Amino acid sequence: MVIRNLSDLPKDALFGKTVLVRVDYNVPRKEGKVLNTFRLQKTLPTLNYLSEAGARVVLISHLGRPRGHYTPEDSLSLLSSLLAELLEREVLFLKGDINDTLKGTIEAQKPGAILLLENIRFFPQEETNDSAFAASLAALGDFYVNDAFSVAHRAHASVDSLPRMMPGFAGFFFEQEMSLIERAIENPARPLMAIVAGSKVSTKLGLLESLIEKVQILVLGGGIANTFLAALGYNMQKSLVERNMIKTARGILETEPASGRRILLPTDVACAKDLEGRALEVVPVDQIPSDKMALDFGPQSISEVFQSLQGVRTVLWNGPLGFFETPPFDQGTVRVAQEVARLTEQENLISIAGGGETASVMIQAGVVDKLTGLSFSGGAFLEALEGKILPGVEALSFSSAKAS
Ligand code: ADP
Ligand code: MG
Repeated sequence: MVIRNLSDLPKDALFGKTVLVRVDYNVPRKEGKVLNTFRLQKTLPTLNYLSEAGARVVLISHLGRPRGHYTPEDSLSLLSSLLAELLEREVLFLKGDINDTLKGTIEAQKPGAILLLENIRFFPQEETNDSAFAASLAALGDFYVNDAFSVAHRAHASVDSLPRMMPGFAGFFFEQEMSLIERAIENPARPLMAIVAGSKVSTKLGLLESLIEKVQILVLGGGIANTFLAALGYNMQKSLVERNMIKTARGILETEPASGRRILLPTDVACAKDLEGRALEVVPVDQIPSDKMALDFGPQSISEVFQSLQGVRTVLWNGPLGFFETPPFDQGTVRVAQEVARLTEQENLISIAGGGETASVMIQAGVVDKLTGLSFSGGAFLEALEGKILPGVEALSFSSAKAS
């Protein structure tokens, strides 16, 4: 699939033009506060490139799940000052409908200006991929750049219909995320270990089924491991277990002996009475107290992962091993992440991690720059790893084919 990158759009073609840039500023928040601005920072190379070339940059993003109407807590206004700080230049926030008045406001700006549109998901037509809505967006500018690989799996108006209507390019961050995944799936160095964890089997079934064919070692963690342990007959007590996935889990476990690949499950767990970590204790998986739930790997399980990492050449990782939001249940993930980072730095291990919460926990573990690559994309990362063609990528390739 051929797509054009921003470097294929020379700077002198950009002066005085308006470029619509799809970004993903769906930042992690807690009680109205922005927890970190990584998603903004990642787009700075693209924004600077366009702005320095003298293009007016119109940013399109979503935030939260407002489901097609205005919700004050999901307004992007709160991000415009954060972005302005990072860019060290002014950012003009634009609310209101997508129409000629808005177009007029945009065209009145100086070359190089950065403008941020209000949350695109306030418009119901975004998620229905409405082509008339996409056309009204297209009328605002000359070029389209997608710098939000993390939404490439969504057939939404600003991701799918829009680039089919104007010359479309992948931004630098989009390109980086895509090549990371290509590197992970095309001929990874072996032995290959995949770590698949997080809350639910059901959201990662496609990934599990595709990876199981490719890996030498599969480490399961989080709620996913709980479901697999339940499938092996362990009483997981109050732990998060997906009952309706037990049969599926059993099916996956049954492939293990014949294939020669290993599936690694925790042998001990840190468990507690509640998510605040009350009455924390570490027990073997067959001795979880009846009033407790498994929330993280225990020390023995962590050292088993360390041992299995010996000789491994590639690690693909999606999903936190435990309930990392409440320390110390981040310890399983943090310690394994730090070991993977150490091996990456010292022994030519290629380590690629991705996922929404995975990115947060890698930040928490302090390994963002120590892994070979970290994708901030959740669903898009998973679907691309499975080998699916994403609507946002397909739309860019359509746009590029139309131009040639
Ligand atoms: P990602 O977004 O990286 O793909 P997921 O969304 O699948 O990851 O899962 C992340 C969530 O799984 C986190 O919020 C984490 O707290 C939760 N989780 C991990 N282990 C457990 C567990 N043992 N019990 C309950 N929740 C867990
Ligand atoms: Mg998630």
